[in-house]
Amino acid sequence: MALTDIDLVNLDTKPFFKTQVRNLIQILYSVYPDINVYLFVADREGSFTLQDLPSNNDHVFDSIPSEVPAIVELQAAEVFSSSYIRNQENAAIFSHDPDEWSKQSILSPLGEPGDLVGFLLTILPDAMTPEKINLEVFDNIAATLGANSVTSNLLEKYKGRSDHLSVMLEVNTHLNIAATKTDFLFEISRFGKYFLQFDRAVLVLHPENTPEYFMIDSIEGEETGLQQGMSYPVFNSLVSRAIITGQYFIYKKSHEPQPEGIYRTGDFQEYPYSQVIGFPLAKIKNGPGLLVLESRDEYPAKQSEIGIFEMISQSLGAALTRFSLYERLNNYATIDTLTHLYNLRALKQRFEEELARAGRYQNSLVVLFLDLDKFKLVNDTYGHLMGDFVLREISQIIRDSIRTSDIPGRYGGEEFVVIMVNTDAEACMASARRICDAVREHQFEMNEISLDSKVSIGLSEFPRDGETMQDLIQSADAAMYTAKRRGGDQVVKYEKGMVPKSRA
Ligand code: GH3
Ligand code: MG
Ligand code: MG
Repeated sequence: MALTDIDLVNLDTKPFFKTQVRNLIQILYSVYPDINVYLFVADREGSFTLQDLPSNNDHVFDSIPSEVPAIVELQAAEVFSSSYIRNQENAAIFSHDPDEWSKQSILSPLGEPGDLVGFLLTILPDAMTPEKINLEVFDNIAATLGANSVTSNLLEKYKGRSDHLSVMLEVNTHLNIAATKTDFLFEISRFGKYFLQFDRAVLVLHPENTPEYFMIDSIEGEETGLQQGMSYPVFNSLVSRAIITGQYFIYKKSHEPQPEGIYRTGDFQEYPYSQVIGFPLAKIKNGPGLLVLESRDEYPAKQSEIGIFEMISQSLGAALTRFSLYERLNNYATIDTLTHLYNLRALKQRFEEELARAGRYQNSLVVLFLDLDKFKLVNDTYGHLMGDFVLREISQIIRDSIRTSDIPGRYGGEEFVVIMVNTDAEACMASARRICDAVREHQFEMNEISLDSKVSIGLSEFPRDGETMQDLIQSADAAMYTAKRRGGDQVVKYEKGMVPKSRA
């Protein structure tokens, strides 16, 4: 269906929002499987209404469950007057009225304080103590949903303007399907060049903690000095002014007086572009960045087009926020927080994928099972903090000793699994010995404590030692346990008859 076939005026713009919400809630459930999440969005009258959330196996809400009482009927005034939300920038444990709220809840405001677009209500299961909850996850979800609703509201606002809306739809559709940051940046520059007829699109981002410099993150088009991924000082230029003030700029070469330089004084001497416009990614002071579009011709920027640029850049800003938060959130679900290796859930998923591939293409697959020797002693002697430190350092040693195509994960407390694909068992033995040697030779030093550590490693091979994930892990575990019985600090390849500790 072409864009022109869509009835722009009657179009329901909500699906964009819903798709994003679905993805986010899905992540939240994968981090905390037993919670229940409710999304309330403010309508024009200021009431908050419960949204139909996407179903997630058990989390289907046909009706409002009893633990969400009268809040659905709450008027905005009441919610605003509730001290929880009014002063709350961040997610907070909600224990307003223990009689009414049978369970602990988390309330996460969406949007800026004073400009609330909704809130997320999360009901924790009875067994879940609030200390087990990382409120940062909820803050991130809320911020992402907030950014989403900016896009959604912009779409809503320009529903009647077919010229604006078609551009917005195009931008949002493409940004929503961008799977990686590179895709995302590509889409941005594509819009600059082809859709808006500019010759070069530059995305200027304001990295945190560097007040004087702005980073230019994406460049597409001719190689006129600026390179993708490099950082350029744009302090005291039109670009920085636009970011600091939140106001757009249009620069035309023919106009007097000459500015300080788009990027710097003198930049324009040999500059091939005649017109440059820069739009902030958010209409706030010191926002996240700027979309800069450069053209060879002086493009007659009409007032209506200013509107389009403003919309696109804000839409980009919202999508960019959403995108980087989405990446972070996804990490919560797949990365072990202590070691930054894959967590068990993600490890198993990658394992199954690689196993299917190995079966299909007759590729090799080798599993290492690692368990630290006498690790309990570290905790008992120096405390858990030192133990955690050792685990982090060992994770780094593992990462440094394997190939980028290998998959390292934390299997349990001080147990690790590495999946190695497309390489023979001999090469894997060598990698395993490298890990074993590196751990033995490493001095673990923290707070004037210095200690040694050792690791036992078992190795199993697909399909020789097992055809399923469970069998392969069991074989590697049995080989590891054999290594322990032989004194530890060594690598053992699985042989028939070896049994894991649980069966020894
Ligand atoms: P072995 O040589 O037989 O492996 O002896 P071990 O002491 O390592 O024995 P085991 O593998 O059973 O010990 C596991 C210990 O690992 C128990 C616990 O104290 C410690 N541990 C597990 N997870 C963590 C963690 O996240 N942090 C810290 N600091 N210690 C952990
Ligand atoms: Mg163990
Ligand atoms: Mg151990």
